[in-house]
Order: sequence, then structure tokens, then C-alpha cells
Amino acid sequence: MNNQPIARELVLVGAGHSHVLLLRMLGMKPIPGLRVTLISPSSRTPYSGMLPGLIAGHYTEDQVYIDLLPLCRFAGASFIRDHLVGLDLVNQSLVCQSRQGIRYDLLSLDVGIRPGGLPSGDQVIPVKPISQFLAGWRSFLEEFGRQEGGSTPRQLGFVGAGAGGVELCLAVDHFLTEHFPGTDRQLHLFTERARILPGYTAGVRRRFETLLDRRGIILHRNFHATDYLGGDLVSSQGNHVALDHAFWVTHGAAPTWLADSGLAVDDGGFVRVRDTLQVEGFEHVFAVGDCATMVNHPRPRAGVYAVRQGKPLNRNLRALLLGRKLHAYHPQSQFLSLISTGDKQAVAARNGLSVAGPWVWRWKNWIDVRFMNQFQHLPQMTAAPAGPLVAEFEQQMQCGGCGSKVSSDLLREVLTELTSDMTSDTRPNRSLVPGDDAALSTIPAGKLLLQSVDHFRAFYDDPYVLARIAVNHALSDIYACGGDPVTAMVLLTLPFAKPDVTRGLLRQVMAGTLRQLAQDEVELVGGHTSEGVEMSIGFAVSGLVTRDALWHKTGLTPGEALILTRPLGTGVIFAADMQHRAKGSWVMAALEQMLVSNRAAARVLARYPVSACTDVTGFGLAGHAIEMLQGSSAGLAINAAALPILDGAVDCLLGIGKNGSIKSTLHESNRRAATLAMPVDIPIKKPEVEIIFDPQTAGGLLAGVRQDQAAACVAELHQAGYADAVVLGRVTDAPGLVIL
Ligand SMILES: Cc1cc2nc3c(=O)[nH]c(=O)nc-3n(C[C@H](O)[C@H](O)[C@H](O)COP(=O)(O)OP(=O)(O)OC[C@H]3O[C@@H](n4cnc5c(N)ncnc54)[C@H](O)[C@@H]3O)c2cc1C
Repeated sequence: MNNQPIARELVLVGAGHSHVLLLRMLGMKPIPGLRVTLISPSSRTPYSGMLPGLIAGHYTEDQVYIDLLPLCRFAGASFIRDHLVGLDLVNQSLVCQSRQGIRYDLLSLDVGIRPGGLPSGDQVIPVKPISQFLAGWRSFLEEFGRQEGGSTPRQLGFVGAGAGGVELCLAVDHFLTEHFPGTDRQLHLFTERARILPGYTAGVRRRFETLLDRRGIILHRNFHATDYLGGDLVSSQGNHVALDHAFWVTHGAAPTWLADSGLAVDDGGFVRVRDTLQVEGFEHVFAVGDCATMVNHPRPRAGVYAVRQGKPLNRNLRALLLGRKLHAYHPQSQFLSLISTGDKQAVAARNGLSVAGPWVWRWKNWIDVRFMNQFQHLPQMTAAPAGPLVAEFEQQMQCGGCGSKVSSDLLREVLTELTSDMTSDTRPNRSLVPGDDAALSTIPAGKLLLQSVDHFRAFYDDPYVLARIAVNHALSDIYACGGDPVTAMVLLTLPFAKPDVTRGLLRQVMAGTLRQLAQDEVELVGGHTSEGVEMSIGFAVSGLVTRDALWHKTGLTPGEALILTRPLGTGVIFAADMQHRAKGSWVMAALEQMLVSNRAAARVLARYPVSACTDVTGFGLAGHAIEMLQGSSAGLAINAAALPILDGAVDCLLGIGKNGSIKSTLHESNRRAATLAMPVDIPIKKPEVEIIFDPQTAGGLLAGVRQDQAAACVAELHQAGYADAVVLGRVTDAPGLVIL
């Protein structure tokens, strides 16, 4: 995490080809004082040049996808998994599917295109966006595999005969020949023109037409596909071709929200950009790749142009930030085109000439692998010295003399804005805005008050998500006591930043906080917000419980079953993430778990005779389980095979590739503390059980339940959405923790 004060915010929307290169360049040469955020619906993005090779079966997904989280870590950028749906250009703020109010000083769009004229229907498989196409391809293969050996040939269509459509059609043909030799099929390629491959020479077209013919692929010329109805592809002239599946690889259309965004767009809805890549009329907004049209240099929409725009985008964003002159960029008019034919051969075309053969594929492969290497082997960098943005910030800090407390006006303004549409029943707190010196609550008769506090440094650089996790982490203590949380106070440190940036960060934190608290019907009654070198967040929470419903941490009795409600591994996954060594998919899955409240789990447990309960957090499973045994002579036998573990956590513990094992900094002290407290017997041949020492954030509940009721309890937990809940083992009458 970057601990420089924040002077400006750059938001990148879409992990297209230009943006991934820009992120790499920002990692190689950071701009101190600039906070960078990438918004992308997925934590990985495919490199289109290798897509046909993936479909043909020559590459694995890992070879073709750029993992965005390690890249963002390298670039010092925060990652938000979301989908932009609108822009508020006046307030320089973004509207995403699951949240809004993400502010920017500079914005860059690289969101690609959507397929044009796409009909609806399960049998239609759009190739754009590519990330979704791969899911469609996998389900197609499953269905195709089920029909293997069927009596009628499967009819497969490819709508669109540009380079992408032709390559994809040939790649699919190759894959099916290799992997489903027994399945009869007929492939069809549709073009709305008289010829395939518009923009290519007659020589290149002839090569491919001959190849299609040789492979038995039927070419339908002048077929302008408009719909797919009742199993038929329908053309504008009223012709029908029966198809079982239609792959849609037509020319791209602009994302629909762009036209409503207020940005300058052309007749097709693509963003109009100047030679500097700035959107016409908006000096702080850039657009690149397929979603943009360079008004002075229109070019076909192709990955090569998006790739080439990475450098000028980087140069001009820096120039604008640092008050330098922006440079005009003139894209080349010709580029080397390498079109693969599915069978590890390819055709190279440039300046009217073309060559073909297996060596061309090897050449293309070398270029593509080299491109991907840039993202798969990120160099180690040293911290950059403070630059002009930070100096500018420091001046402002000195003048402002604002100390470390975020102004109450700002807090009030943010809370008022966030709660303007709430009713008086749902609006947070009675005493925060504007309030007494302390929050006042009445404890209902017959209830006991539970209080707890938890606080941590930001381990993930998305204030909205972090706030939601911090809420869950803190509320878990109340749930572990069998109580209902009622109030919370936030303890927040925001990084030093300019006032507008602070407002934006505060807005994200409070939006996340209010959302998560509202889900659990908890009221925010106060807090303390200050500024510091890095972000940290925590909550002081209170809850109510009746004496009958109260669970203590200790009280396990031999013979009982020990239940854990969610998987382990958050500590090691975020340790790996900090070293840029965690896969984005592991981090995303860990975050998803941490965003689930323990509320419903506690309610399920409350229907069973719970003898003792705690939540698994910083001491790891072993540490918290041992705490449950304190004061008793009982022990625990945990079944190693039952341990629920997050994807990737064991890979990290055991070491990824040539790199050594990764452990959270608390891991060893957790082990020491556990083994000092009681004998811990771990099988040497099962190194994955090390996970019991991994510290957890927003971990699950650990509870003792009568053995004969444990299976029913776990089944109910599954139904309540805790799919990984398990009976971990049992309470024994011999002191010690044994892993079987
Ligand atoms: C089968 C096939 C093969 C191809 N082969 C080649 C080739 O060999 N060479 C070549 O030059 N071109 C090729 N192309 C074309 C190439 O795919 C595109 O031109 C290229 O991907 C465009 O890159 P981009 O940076 O504009 O955006 P993309 O690579 O399309 O990336 C856009 C990103 O933005 C994200 N996004 C979309 N909407 C939003 C939103 N609202 N909010 C947040 N994120 C969003 C998407 O998820 C995606 O990750 C091929 C195309 C196909 C279909």
C-alpha cells in the first residue's frame, strides 16, 4: 500500500489493453501523490491476441489472462470489482452497479465494445466481452460433449467474418476435431458482404477461403444475420439457416451507457477523442481502445491499436498531472496482422503482402508470449521519491494546519448526503449529527449489555469493501456471545489527502459502513475520524443479550462436536497479495467470504444447544480453539480432512512455483502461543494443516454443539448460505489439540 499523501485521483475504467499497459508503466515509474483505482467487472482480463489459441487448445487460461490484482498491487493501484453504468461529469464522480460516488480528478475509459445486433437466446454465444465468452464456450463444450456420438450433425454458426470471426471459427473447428473426433458437426461462417476479411488483400482472403473450403466449413456470403429464432439464424433478406449454436463475432457496438454519459460521442456512440486521447470538450477525461474514436485518425477497432495507445496515454496523463505539454499521438495506418488458422499455423499480412505457415504461428506465439510475460513476471521496484504532487500537497497541509482530525462538517456533509433518502427510522444515529458528546442508549429490562472493539490497518485498498469487512469483523464478537448487535461507533484513520480526496474516501467508507450495518440492523451512533500516514478502520460495537441466550467462550464438554461456519485462509492470502503473489481469483473469493455477516450463522446456532462459542480472528483457529478449552481438562481432536480452506491458501503456505512458502506475519507467533498453551499434535505429512495458525479477519464462528445434533446444525448452516460450514472434530477428555 502506498503511504504517500494523496493529492490527485486517477480512475481507470475497464481493464482493456491500454490500461493494463498503463498500470505496468505506473508501477515502473509511480507518481507519488497520485491515487490510482482500476474498476473492472472481473479480477482478470484476457489478451485477445491469444484467445483463438486458447479456444484451439494451445494455451491454458492462465497463459491468456492477465491477473489484475497483482498488477494493481505492482502499480500501487486499488482495485474495485464493479461495472461502470454512468458518469456524473459535473461532480467528477462515477456510478457503478453496486455503489456510486467514486470521485476522480482524472478519468480514463478503456471499456471495449459489445457485440453489435446481438439477438437473445441461450444458443447465441456473444464473443464480446471476451471474459463472458469463455464462460459461454465452456457451457457450449459441456453440452456438445453430452451429444457426442449423436446421429444428426451439430450445426454451428459463426456470425461475422472479420479477422476475429474467421480465427475463432477455425480455432473451434480445430478443437472439436482434436477433442470430439466422434461427433458429427457442420460449421458455417456468415458474412454480410460478398467477401470475408474486409480490409485485407485479395491474396489473404483467397488463402482463407481456400482453407475454409478444405476444412468443409460452409461460407454464407451476403447473409446479414439479424436474428436467431426457433433454432434458425435469420437474415435481413428473410433467409433461414438451422443452427444449434450461433457464435456472435460481428463488428462491435459501443457500450450503451456512453451515449447517455454526456461525453462527446460519434454516430455509433463511440467516444470522440482528440489526438491527445482526451475526450473532446473534457480535458480530464481520456478514452482509449475500441470504445474510442480518434476523430482525426479513425482506425479499425483492433487490439493492436489499443496496445499502442498505452504509451501515449501514460505520457499525456503524466503531462496533465504535472502541468506539462500534452503530445499529439498519430496511430500508424498499417500494422502487421497475424491471423492464426487453428492448427498452429498462421498467415502474416502487411502492406499488401502475405506469408503463411507453421513458422508464422511460432512467430506470433513468440510475440504474444512476450507481451504476456510483461504481466506475469513483474519486477521488484523500490519506493519512488516524493515528486511535485506531494510537494504541492505538503504546502497545502502546512497552510491548512488541519492537524489530524477530519472536520466534523465534512463528516456531517457526507452522512447527510448518504442518508438523504432514508426515513427517520432507518437513518443512522440519534446523536451523531449534530450531537451530544456521547451516544445515549437505554438497556431494556432483562437484557445484558455486550461491548467489544476491533480495529485493523487497511490490508486491501478499497475503502468501501474494507469498511464492510471491518463491520463484520467487529460485529462477530457480539454474535459469538449469542447477542444482537445494536449500536456501532467507527474508529477511522484516513490517509493524508487533499480535502476533495478525503471527502471521496470518507464517502466510500461511510457508504460501506452504513450498508453493512443496515443489513444487520445496527445503528451507527458515533465515531472518531482522523488522518494519518495510512488508512485503518475499526468499530466499537455494543449488543444486547438475555442471560439465557448468552454464550461464553469456554464450557466445551467432552463428546461434543466442534462446528466452524466458514473457511480459513484470509491471513495467508492477503500476505501473498501484498507480495503480488496471490491470484486475483483467490483474493476475490476471500473478500466474498469476509463480506458475509455471521448474523445468520449465529441465528442457526441459537436453535441448537451451544455449549461455547467464539469467532475465529487474529489468533487463528488453533489459538481460538485453545481459548475455548481454558479452565477445563478437555482437549480437541480436529479432522484435517474437514478443515475448510479458501482457494489458494494451501498453495501459498506450501510455496507457489519456485518461490518459498508465504505466511502471515502472525502465523509463527500464533503457533508459538498455541503450543505453549497446550500440546499440539500435527501430522507432519499434512503441511496444509498449518492453516490452523493462520490469523483470520472477519472469520467464522466456532461453536460446540451436541454430537447428535451437529449434522442437522451444519445442514441448516448450509441452507443459510454458509456453504463451507463443517463439523471440524470433537471435544475429547484428554487435554491437548490433536489434528487427525
Ligand atoms: C476472437 C477474437 C480475436 C481477436 N484477435 C485479435 C488480434 O489477434 N489482434 C488484434 O489486434 N485484435 C484482435 N481482436 C480484437 C480485440 O479483441 C479488440 O480490438 C481489443 O480487445 C480491444 O481492446 P480494448 O482495450 O479496447 O478493450 P477490451 O480488451 O475489450 O477490454 C475492455 C475491458 O473493459 C471492461 N469493461 C467493459 N465495460 C465496462 C464497464 N462498464 N465498467 C468497467 N469495465 C468495463 C471489460 O470487462 C474488459 O475487460 C480479436 C477479437 C476477437 C473477438
